[in-house]
Amino acid sequence: MDSKKNMIISIIIPCYNEEGNITELYEKIKYVLDEKKIEFIFIDDNSNDNTLSIIEKISDRDKTVKYVSFSRNFGHQSALRAGLEKASGNCVISMDADLQHPPEVLKSLLGKWEEGYDIVYTIRRDNAINPFKRMSSAFFYKLSNYLSDVKLENGSADFRLLDRKIVDILVNDISEYHLFYRGLVSWLGFR
Ligand code: UDP
Ligand code: MG
Repeated sequence: MDSKKNMIISIIIPCYNEEGNITELYEKIKYVLDEKKIEFIFIDDNSNDNTLSIIEKISDRDKTVKYVSFSRNFGHQSALRAGLEKASGNCVISMDADLQHPPEVLKSLLGKWEEGYDIVYTIRRDNAINPFKRMSSAFFYKLSNYLSDVKLENGSADFRLLDRKIVDILVNDISEYHLFYRGLVSWLGFR
């Protein structure tokens, strides 16, 4: 579908004490998606380092950069919610600020969306993390899949692309207080 090539891509980035990563992440995304129309939305989850002032500086220079600033630390999933609410793009990509979600992958996410998929998600390779986290993570997914009808793939990440129609459902029709977007998105269905 050629028409998607000129559409607006929102990238929402929750940030908690990420002063050392934000500029590098922003520049890498710009470089990887240089021919795309991007809207950046940084959500500062009440960091106690210079995260917010770095975001403000980038936003002063670049009008495609917007941000939300939280009054206290609400947590990653609440920051994602604020980003989804503020995003205006035809699709919304969520990614972490700490460079653990490689910007190079953005092109593949967009390629799948252009092919017609509404949700494109990523899975972390388990050799990328330390043995303790690998074991506790595997246990979490086993337990979650045992207890719940909503199946999650081991290593699912909050690095994903959602088409506008999915974002509208999440923002307008779902008012869960205890948010867990990996589960919610899987539960929604869609391609
Ligand atoms: N984060 C946040 N609020 C928090 C903790 C984390 O917005 O209270 C952000 C953090 O800056 C990062 C993302 O959420 O961009 C994921 O956090 P983290 O890297 O700590 O998670 P992990 O890599 O362990 O899954
Ligand atoms: Mg991380």
